[in-house]
Amino acid sequence: MQPVCGRFAPTPSGRIHLGNILCAMLSWLSVRSVGGRYLLRIEDLDAMRCPRSLADLIEDDLHWFGIDWDDGGSAGGEQWYQSNRFDLYDTCYQQLQEQDLLYPCFCSRAELHAAQAPHRSDGTYVYAGTCRSLTPEQIAEKRKRRPPATRVRVPDRVVSFVDGCQGRYTENLAQDCGDFIIRRSDGVYGYQLAVVADDAAMGVTEVVRGRDLLESTPRQLYLYEKLGLQAPVFYHIPLLTAPDGRRLSKRDGDLDLGVLREKFGRPEPIIGMLAAAIGLRPTAQPVTLQELAAEFSWDKVPKEDVALPEEILRKA
Ligand code: GLU
Repeated sequence: MQPVCGRFAPTPSGRIHLGNILCAMLSWLSVRSVGGRYLLRIEDLDAMRCPRSLADLIEDDLHWFGIDWDDGGSAGGEQWYQSNRFDLYDTCYQQLQEQDLLYPCFCSRAELHAAQAPHRSDGTYVYAGTCRSLTPEQIAEKRKRRPPATRVRVPDRVVSFVDGCQGRYTENLAQDCGDFIIRRSDGVYGYQLAVVADDAAMGVTEVVRGRDLLESTPRQLYLYEKLGLQAPVFYHIPLLTAPDGRRLSKRDGDLDLGVLREKFGRPEPIIGMLAAAIGLRPTAQPVTLQELAAEFSWDKVPKEDVALPEEILRKA
C-alpha cells in the first residue's frame, strides 16, 4: 500500500479565510492522524492574479495556525508553484492530443453565454459543442482572427465515484458538463488538467477540499483515466455559512486570517470553534491541532454545510 499523502493547494488570490482554514485543518488532520505525509502546493496558474506576496502570506497564516508540511511551499522551491510547472502540463496536453481528444475552441465569452444550456450549480455552463466539428479550413480561417482555447472531448457516459464525505456522486460528462477547457486562449492551463497532473506527479493519495469542487471531480477522474494515472480518494467537505445559512464570501473580509489573528492572538480558540462547528468536538473549548489529530475520524464530519456560531462573528 502506498503511504498516505495529502496536500493543501490554495490559490493565492486573497488572504486566507475561515473556509480555507477549515479545509487546511481537515486535510492536515486526515493525514496526520494516520502519520501520513503532507504537502503545500501553490495554485498560482493565473500568475497575474496570484502575486508571490499573497502566497507568502498564506504560508505565514498556516504556520501561525499550526499547520506544518513535509514538502512544498517556498522552502520546497519553485516547482511547488503551478506557474512553474507548465512543462508537465505540456506533456499531459500532448498525451491527450495523441489520443485525438483535444480541439480548438474559438467561442468568445459572449457566445458561450448565448449558446450554452442552463448553467449548473457551480456556475459553469454545459458546453454546447459549437467548435467540436470544425473543418481544418474553418479552423485555419478562425485562427487568423483570434487564438483558440483548447477543449477535451468527453464521452456520453456516466462517471461515478464514492466520496469519503459526500457518498456516491454520479454525473454524465456529456450531458452535465460538456467538453471542457484544458488550456485557455492565453496559454494558461485550466485548473482541471493542472490539478490532476500535479496530484499524480506529487504522489497525493487523498484530496480534501470544499464541497463546491465536487462537480469538478468527474472531469478530473476522466483525465486520470485518459492520462493513465492513479486517482486519489476524495473528501469534499461542507462549506461554512453565516449563522443565517448564507454562504460566506470574500465580502466577509472580517473572517480572514489577518483580522482573526489580531482579535484572537492565538490559534487555539479558533481551532476550538471550528472543531465544534464541524462536529469534531462537543464544545468550543480552545484546543490544539495535535489534540484534534489524536481523536480525528471522518465519521464525525457531516455532509451538509455548517453554520458558524454567532460568537465567532461577534468576536471577529
Ligand atoms: N486551488 C483550489 C482552491 O483554492 C483548490 C483545488 C483543489 O484542492 O483541488 O480552491
